[in-house]
Amino acid sequence: LDPLHRCVPGSTIGILGGGQLGRMLSMAAAQLGLRTLVYDPQRHGPGFDVATEHMTGRYDDEERLAEFAARVSVVTYEFENVPAETASFLAARRPVRPGPRALAVSQDRLAEKAFFREHGCPVGPFAPVESPDDIRAAIADLGLPAVLKTRRLGYDGKGQAVLRQPDDVDAAWAAIGARSNTTVSAILEAFVPFTTEISVLIARDLDGATAVYDVTENVHREGILRQSSVPAGVTLPVMEVAQGVARSIAGALDYVGVLGVEFFVVGDRVLVNEIAPRVHNSGHWTVDACACSQFENHIRAVAGWPLGPATRHSDATMTNLIGDDWLNWPEILAERGACLHLYGKGQARPGRKMGHVIRLT
Ligand code: AMP
Repeated sequence: LDPLHRCVPGSTIGILGGGQLGRMLSMAAAQLGLRTLVYDPQRHGPGFDVATEHMTGRYDDEERLAEFAARVSVVTYEFENVPAETASFLAARRPVRPGPRALAVSQDRLAEKAFFREHGCPVGPFAPVESPDDIRAAIADLGLPAVLKTRRLGYDGKGQAVLRQPDDVDAAWAAIGARSNTTVSAILEAFVPFTTEISVLIARDLDGATAVYDVTENVHREGILRQSSVPAGVTLPVMEVAQGVARSIAGALDYVGVLGVEFFVVGDRVLVNEIAPRVHNSGHWTVDACACSQFENHIRAVAGWPLGPATRHSDATMTNLIGDDWLNWPEILAERGACLHLYGKGQARPGRKMGHVIRLT
């Protein structure tokens, strides 16, 4: 390692999290002659199957974490809920990329929205709330419908509830897991009547150079991403604004790695919804439709290497295979232009992402 901790081929990248993103990061690292050590509290996982090595350990087990740090050159992660203490414990031993600031901002929906505002990024109306009374007061300001979300630990639509009428307050409070007499840190957002949801994947390297992927159009159902397609059905100015916002967020965070930025499009306006300090489900199409995928660019960036081109050579649609969808694998294999990706998960449960298919057009 040089003073900037640039890796050489044969170095080991430590990855926190052994899910499908850790799996695809490990595959990209292997292509570049890099080794991976995946760390996860579970004993099995899609990432464990393909990483060079893996370790099971809790995120608060300092002995295991110290061993993990000692075995890797740099540390990255596949999910944004890495506890802050875990990140700082590791950062004292090895570079953690993206840095702890990106984690802190993305772990807390209120801090995230405040960060967007502070950096001039357009966001929809919101208010912090800690009780049903706060929600009633916030509704007076924001109107209905509105979306209640826990500040922390929500994903794939979990920890969220939509309020359509004033009577919905108590049910929504219960739906996010709060009891009537306790305070919970939450946020109430005005419901955004979006025409389209889009996202931008941006890679930024140690020297601040960026590679921005084409804007992706996303369709969610029950809070879970179902489909992503490129090119997105939005105007060129909308695409340019979204990519500009992604660039300024990555710059403001002095970000290293791939960052996902999700937006709502309302007419010709773009509002930032949230960021993910990691490779992102809406960027899976980059594997089959781009010169250099989001996974390869993330690995390059965290290794301290220059980025590859984010240029797209095909139009593409990515469909998540959720629950039993993956049972159609023989039909998908027989389809021309369909690229099947399965995560090797043993059991399909409703809502569980088992794989995805990228259809090139
Ligand atoms: P999130 O976890 O914030 O990404 O929310 C998951 C999905 O719920 C989004 O992709 C939207 O489809 C929907 N959603 C979340 N917040 C809002 C909002 N304020 N207005 C309308 N739809 C929303």
